[in-house]
Amino acid sequence: MKKVLFVTSEAHPLIKTGGLADVSGSLPKALAELSQDVRLIIPKYQALKISGELRYVCSLRVDNKNVKILETRMPGSPVTVWLVDYPGYFNYPGNPYVDELGEPWPNNAERFALFCRTVVEVAMDRVHQDWKPDVVHCNDWQSGLVPALLSLEYDRPSTVFTIHNMAYQGLFPGTTAATLNMPGQLMHPLGLEFHSMLSFIKGGLVYSDYITTVSPTYALEIQTPEFGYGLEGLLDHRKEFLGGIINGIDLDQWNPKTDTLISQNFTESTLSKKQVNKSALQKKMGLPVNGRIPLFGLIGRLVEQKGIDLILDSLPEMLTMPLQFVLLGSGDKAYEKLLEALAQSYPDKIALNIGYNEELAHSIEAGADIFLMPSRFEPCGLNQMYSQRYGTIPIVRKTGGLADTVVDALPHTIADNTATGIIFNEATAGSLLESVKRALLLYSNAEIWIKLQTAGMKKDFSWQQSAQRYLAVYNNL
Ligand code: ADP
Repeated sequence: MKKVLFVTSEAHPLIKTGGLADVSGSLPKALAELSQDVRLIIPKYQALKISGELRYVCSLRVDNKNVKILETRMPGSPVTVWLVDYPGYFNYPGNPYVDELGEPWPNNAERFALFCRTVVEVAMDRVHQDWKPDVVHCNDWQSGLVPALLSLEYDRPSTVFTIHNMAYQGLFPGTTAATLNMPGQLMHPLGLEFHSMLSFIKGGLVYSDYITTVSPTYALEIQTPEFGYGLEGLLDHRKEFLGGIINGIDLDQWNPKTDTLISQNFTESTLSKKQVNKSALQKKMGLPVNGRIPLFGLIGRLVEQKGIDLILDSLPEMLTMPLQFVLLGSGDKAYEKLLEALAQSYPDKIALNIGYNEELAHSIEAGADIFLMPSRFEPCGLNQMYSQRYGTIPIVRKTGGLADTVVDALPHTIADNTATGIIFNEATAGSLLESVKRALLLYSNAEIWIKLQTAGMKKDFSWQQSAQRYLAVYNNL
């Protein structure tokens, strides 16, 4: 049995901005089910949704500040959660990283450096809990300083660093290193320095014993300039200690058979019932209720990564086709405005919900026929897996986890019942449009469509598989 300290800046259902929260909510649970002793550590933000009791664990002095550790439990699991309580840094409303205007909190470097230093104290059991982890598993730049700082400790636990998205690196001006009292041994170009800046993510990439990312294809992609953002050389250098493990999905939360957030439960043997969800979604979103018209869905952050510009460029032509489009998301204000204008001009075809809405996300997965995910890059991606589980055919670009989890509908994959979606290569509107047309053609053939739906719904996207792979990584350290 391994003792694992899982370090994260978000975890569903406590707080979530993206896929990292899903992983942090599910992986520790899945590891606990494999009889591992996992504890999760996260900052105590104001917006944390804590249910149940909150226990005081201890107080400690970190970088001249009085920090408290509190303890709760991951809802619905035996996983212990330690909260790093320092109200001056974490008791901010809303999003963990940005203010209400979407600007990063000005003291993010200080906030997450304090978090990392506190994690090191816990990892070395200087908090006297009689619990020293074998492995400290860090995630993304917010915990990147942990492997770096631990590398300076004698008799330290092993460290694993998981990249959920290379695009977010925690880069700060070089002077920040002094503000944060970073040890001099770490401040050089082969350490935390990146072009005279301080890079939090490099702490994980340089100093962790093993690096993982969230899909095998993304693990290869980040070793190239297009996806590595200048760190491809470092990643290539460390490739022996770098691997991709695809995320699972929460099969309880995303289960069309039992989902309480959708109008009508269904399975692959009662697929016709999915229609009820389609009409309900059309009704809810103010679209004409029509069982035959193909309904496209999209859920996600409205940012360049997700290929929203490709959608915007494709919509004029898509709007000449017989289809409807439901979109849920928020992000870049310019994208939001352009989409809003289109939705206003075509109220019978486009329905838009700007915001974050979990219930509607479930309704879209259940009610849409086709799910669009034209990402420019996608470390893993979750929605394409949810879609397959809900009999909603994903159209994805061939990148990262999308390439690893969707099987393109080609004559031979349709014939052998492995096809589950539609894949296109180029990040261009033309390429996307071609795949949309391909989807419409397949949709018009009910027999083939049901084959695709059934194959997707039968796929195993469980966390058990992924957790086994992480456990193998821990055991090999
Ligand atoms: P990323 O982590 O890059 O945002 P992922 O596909 O890995 O993308 O994970 C995004 C998660 O957040 C999914 O569970 C998705 O359903 C959810 N999500 C994103 N935007 C919204 C939204 N506006 N409303 C509800 N859920 C959302």
